[in-house]
Amino acid sequence: MSEFQRNMSLTGEPPKSLTAGQKIFTAVGLFGLAVLILANFNVNFPNKTLWLTIALGSIVGGIIGFAWATYSGTSAGIKNDGVMFKSITSRGLWAWVAILAFSGFYVLLYFYPELLGLVSDGDNTGVIALFDPLSKFISGSPASQWFVYGTLYTIAIVSFGIKFIWKYRHNSYEVIRTCSVMFFQTAFAFIIPEIMTSLNQPYYDFKNIWPLNYDLFAGYKIDEFLGAGNFGVAMLIFGVASIFVITPILTYKYGKRWYCSWVCGCGGLAETAGDSFRQLSNKKQYAWNIERWVIHSVVVFAVVMTTAVVYSFLKGNESASSIGSWNDFSHKVVFIGAQDQKPMHEVVLAAQEAGAARVVYLDRSESSDPIQLESTEGINIPFNVVKEENNAQGIKQINEQKQATLLPMDRSQEDIFIEKGTESVIYDNVWLSKEFFVWGVIGLLTLGFVLVFVFKREQLAKDAKIGAIGYFVIVVGLLLFTYLDESKQLFLFESWRLNQVYGFLIGAVFSGVIGTGFYPIFGNRVWCRFGCPMAAILGFQQRMFSRFRITTNGGQCISCGNCSTYCEMGIDVRAYAQKGENIVRSSCVGCGICSAVCPRGVLKLENGPLEGRINSQSVLLGQDPDLMALLSSNKNS
Ligand code: SF4
Ligand code: SF4
Repeated sequence: MSEFQRNMSLTGEPPKSLTAGQKIFTAVGLFGLAVLILANFNVNFPNKTLWLTIALGSIVGGIIGFAWATYSGTSAGIKNDGVMFKSITSRGLWAWVAILAFSGFYVLLYFYPELLGLVSDGDNTGVIALFDPLSKFISGSPASQWFVYGTLYTIAIVSFGIKFIWKYRHNSYEVIRTCSVMFFQTAFAFIIPEIMTSLNQPYYDFKNIWPLNYDLFAGYKIDEFLGAGNFGVAMLIFGVASIFVITPILTYKYGKRWYCSWVCGCGGLAETAGDSFRQLSNKKQYAWNIERWVIHSVVVFAVVMTTAVVYSFLKGNESASSIGSWNDFSHKVVFIGAQDQKPMHEVVLAAQEAGAARVVYLDRSESSDPIQLESTEGINIPFNVVKEENNAQGIKQINEQKQATLLPMDRSQEDIFIEKGTESVIYDNVWLSKEFFVWGVIGLLTLGFVLVFVFKREQLAKDAKIGAIGYFVIVVGLLLFTYLDESKQLFLFESWRLNQVYGFLIGAVFSGVIGTGFYPIFGNRVWCRFGCPMAAILGFQQRMFSRFRITTNGGQCISCGNCSTYCEMGIDVRAYAQKGENIVRSSCVGCGICSAVCPRGVLKLENGPLEGRINSQSVLLGQDPDLMALLSSNKNS
């Protein structure tokens, strides 16, 4: 690297390397990480509670100490000194080391949790075992890889959040919204769901809204909600209301920032742990084009997948097909209410892999011959078929975890005795006709489409129009095609496979491995910008129908470019500021950093009337007179 030219600088050498204090606290944090890594290599820590406390305490202490060593004793104000010179924040060697480490962790987490020590039928080992005491303390059960992840995620948001608050202490908007994301992550994403699980309620992160929470309407989840009584039904209603009622109201009033920068966990991590990488977002025009196409395609994928999943669920047969390794059936009895295209032996095998103790098929047909498994290869848990009408009382008792006996249709089999306390899940529920649902989806899409084209036509760019028409025709065409077709599946694919593909590509690879693992290369909001379907829906509404805008006092702008440099969504804020034009962009998450780093106070995040919000024609020059108006009035006089 070339040497810094001191004689060209007014301020002296930028801080390329760490100070002694920063080095000490980096070492403290790395010590905590080293304990976790050693635990994963099964180094025996005799007192797990103590060593987990030491490890997590060191990580938190290291991050907060680093912030103290960096910002204490300095005056409040913009603090990005040396960010373009440090290897980790300017795509240098350390950036690549970091992405290897982050992405590697995500790959293990999503695809090889056993290498982190997850044991489904025994005591955990490795790093997951180190977290067992904390998990047992909060929810009463041993840790899973998701508990470890949730703990580290929360710690990252809280400790880097403190660093962030210190850095941006001159800006109260940044301070308050960071406290908000820290609170929502700790309470809503981490503690409340764990406590609910310990109370035998469905796991639910209330702030994780569909389509971000893409499994919310999956058959197994709906079964879980409906099986949890009134509280479960209330959760399901809240899930529907949060996307169709709460989200539109709040986005209308405050723009997408209420969610992306104040509530969401992905946004929370990006803003806090990812703050040092915000300047790496691509500002080029082609990135903007890619962003629009990719993110809207993800929305279409999410809508298609969810429609297919719910449609199949309403046939009473999606649920069984959706059984997979993501279920936790440890020692549970799995009841199957209806058969799908997926062969029954595959369903039983999937349930067995998820830990089920037994699978019971509830026969509702007139036939007296029980269905047979197509193959028994690999199946080593009991599979029975019972007539539902003859066993209604027993099934009810099992649901209530009471002792019960069921009578198999095949009388050569022994009666099925289920012990008291045995947990069960039922994969079957029909409470809304599939026809009503399909036409509801078509009606909703049509309504949205017509409203936008009637009232907001002029605000749609040409390519957005073509994209909207294309997507609309595809989604509705497929719906009608399949609806008028007698085949049992929607969208030519089996819904459980769509759900699996979506979960793998979008839920794991995009949001986890690339979205977070690649912060040091693509910037901190790569997932929010290119992949998050929730951000796309909020962005569409923000552009079309919201009171939010960033106003610019163009006459004050000195074109320093700070705002564009640190806009994590790659928006060329300066271009708007130079023209005095309001910024109304779908992708703007309202983080307010452009405003926080502007040395001239040009930018202001505001909510106001819809009229005049998008003022692309106007050229405002701060306190200067309106020269155009002056010119034309002079001409007329
Ligand atoms: S324009 Fe400003 S508020 Fe919007 S995302 Fe960029 S930096 Fe954040
Ligand atoms: S708006 Fe502020 S930060 Fe952006 S270019 Fe102008 S003076 Fe610089």
